[in-house]
Amino acid sequence: MFSYRHAFHAGNHADVLKHMVLIAILRYLRQKDTALTVFDTHAGAGLYRLDGDYAQTSGEATDGVLRLIAALEKPVVASAKASAAAKSLANGVAPMIQDYLDLVAGFNTAGSRKIYPGSPFIIQRLLGERDKLKLFELHPTDAKTLSSNIAQLEAGRQVAVLREDGFEGLKKFLPPPARRALVLSDPSYEIKNDYARVVAMVADSLARFATGTYAVWYPIIPRPEAHDVPRKLKTLATKAGKNWLHASLTVKSSKLTSNEAGEVIRPGLPASGMFIINPPHTLKAGLQLALPQLAALLGQDQHAASTLESGT
Ligand code: SAM
Repeated sequence: MFSYRHAFHAGNHADVLKHMVLIAILRYLRQKDTALTVFDTHAGAGLYRLDGDYAQTSGEATDGVLRLIAALEKPVVASAKASAAAKSLANGVAPMIQDYLDLVAGFNTAGSRKIYPGSPFIIQRLLGERDKLKLFELHPTDAKTLSSNIAQLEAGRQVAVLREDGFEGLKKFLPPPARRALVLSDPSYEIKNDYARVVAMVADSLARFATGTYAVWYPIIPRPEAHDVPRKLKTLATKAGKNWLHASLTVKSSKLTSNEAGEVIRPGLPASGMFIINPPHTLKAGLQLALPQLAALLGQDQHAASTLESGT
């Protein structure tokens, strides 16, 4: 069975990128009145404690959401020689970053940073009355935690937790009844096959429901399969004649280093990306402003950077 537990990673730089994009997509899709179905193929536990054992052990939120909050608590003053990102921050934080931070703050009492919402809770908070949310989670413990967290929302039939394989389970729901859907796919990539499976899932979904919005998160690590994900998704979208956006955020070098004792130090996740097919037309401009600011605020060394590309 899997050993990946998202509680170790909740609120890290990858979550910041993924959840910021997720919120922006949902805000746009919610502008229409027609019912929307949202699928989260790899849902996790739903809610996390940043002061709990998992998060404290890994400290990943410290370099993610908590770093962002701390950086923005001080006024940003940019000198004439400052980078373009620092100058843009001095003019105000990007609306997508602010929206993300406000939503996270909404899960905490004033000034506290104990709770971090996972994608299921972020999505649920942004749903309209007639919208539906289908959550897939295969890990027995996380599926149980997710079910009890969701039960507390008393959302009734609006939210369904399915202890199923998200790659396969999605098929039976496409196309959705009102023909409006967002699919978030955020695998743990613990199994090497996940890289190929996420691409196959999008290919199958586009054949079933070409007008849905598909958002795939992937890690940028020195592995050929990881680099294949955006390359193959780009080919799929282009062949289907669909618009796409590809955003990436690097916070540090991916190089191995060693300590004084000569032990090899792995850098941890240095970068990740989001690939979106049929993105809202407003997303590109939002990301153009937000991504360089995120790289400036979350960057840990001179390798910090962001990229944004788009096409049809
Ligand atoms: N999307 C969540 C968020 O943003 O808060 C985090 C999800 S975490 C990266 C990936 C989750 O997928 C893990 O909880 C893991 O147990 C689960 N998982 C792994 N393989 C799965 C599969 N084939 N189908 C559904 N869930 C799976």
